[in-house]
Amino acid sequence: ASLEQIQALEPTLHSFLHVTRDRALEQASRVDAKLAAKEAIPLLAGIPIGIKDNLCTQGVPTTCASHILQSFVPPYESTVTQKLQDVGAVMMGKTNLDEFAMGGSTETSAFAKTANPWDVSRVPGGSSGGSAAAVASGECVVSLGSDTGGSIRQPASFCGIVGMKPTYGLVSRYGLVAFASSLDQIGPFGRSVEDAAILLGAIAGYDPKDSTSLKVEIPDYTQFFTPDLKGKKVGIITETFGEGLDADVEKAVRAAIDQIKALGAEIQEISCPRFRYGIAAYYIIAPSEASANLARYDGVRYGTRVENAEDLMDMYTRTRAEGFGAEVKRRIMIGTYALSAGYYDAYYLKAQKVRTLIKQDFEKAFESVDVLVSPTAPTTAFQSGDKSADPLSMYLIDLMTIPVNLAGLPGMSVPCGFDSQGLPIGLQIIGNVLREDQVFQVAHAYE
Ligand code: GLN
Repeated sequence: ASLEQIQALEPTLHSFLHVTRDRALEQASRVDAKLAAKEAIPLLAGIPIGIKDNLCTQGVPTTCASHILQSFVPPYESTVTQKLQDVGAVMMGKTNLDEFAMGGSTETSAFAKTANPWDVSRVPGGSSGGSAAAVASGECVVSLGSDTGGSIRQPASFCGIVGMKPTYGLVSRYGLVAFASSLDQIGPFGRSVEDAAILLGAIAGYDPKDSTSLKVEIPDYTQFFTPDLKGKKVGIITETFGEGLDADVEKAVRAAIDQIKALGAEIQEISCPRFRYGIAAYYIIAPSEASANLARYDGVRYGTRVENAEDLMDMYTRTRAEGFGAEVKRRIMIGTYALSAGYYDAYYLKAQKVRTLIKQDFEKAFESVDVLVSPTAPTTAFQSGDKSADPLSMYLIDLMTIPVNLAGLPGMSVPCGFDSQGLPIGLQIIGNVLREDQVFQVAHAYE
């Protein structure tokens, strides 16, 4: 059924860069054989899953939607995809993204533009737009994305599904192509909170192959679901209801908060005064880390290499000039500049200090509440092409999601209604470090 849906919708949606049809059928038939033999199978066995194309999959192309990795076929499997394979999940293919996960609309992909299933003239959000569109349209049941500044939550909001970024370190990044290593986290998309909880449970856990991986027990997140929210303390982040917030989004999010209150939660306003410096700090820290991470694409070790180079330098230069797209080059330029001798203190170090202040705002907030709520994004899905010529306006969409990455906290987007044009709106629920349980509890009771 999933393959049929893919066949019917892909000419319009372009959620996938690569559909692994034969492999999927083979994986599915192995599950069928177990069922026929009346063997017990894990919960995720046979479930069709989409995988963002920045996760390494052995023997299956992994392009990061970039020309520079166009011909890259990883010789190894990422920890998360290995875990899913081990429980019999069926990978349908690799989903589209902004090049190297840099963007908020999936328009910087070198290969295809993904359409929003609710209105195909609009973007699905990004950078995990392919993974979000694939789940929203029923091309697969759940999918994996990565979130550095909002790339799971914002597309989940634009596509009307659930998307979760876990606590930094909860999910192994081994085999995730690095963008900004101190911010990147892999997380689940699903059509319900329960689906996302099951998928997170399957991919989370300590991994010696990732030095930032946390040694914690992974619970069954569905055990925290409760019918009401009596005694839960929920904080509304004052600063996220300011200028630039679409009126329909504000109305829907306020209505969602009323509903959370009706479920028994105590609501209070919480100010996070340094929240608004998130974007400025992020656009120093993320490009700095990206410029270092992307230095490895030199035409020698991975993917594409230009032909007929005059010498080594010419090969490096032309491979990178032809291989990277404009947004990726912009980030490399910003990052190398911010890290240069003489500028390091003024930019990078300063941004790191601001990051600490933002973290302190959250720490203070969590002294009085269990979870924080805000809109996920200030608007609903915009028209394709609307923001691609203006990087700054594109960067501003992540206003509400970026601070969560800077502080390493878990955050989720849950659908909370529609705007006057029928486009989905997302409510963001943020938890304290490793309090995924609370985020899932509130999200599930509300949903
Ligand atoms: N839109 C943000 C950026 O362009 C976040 C991307 C992400 O989370 N991968 O960097």
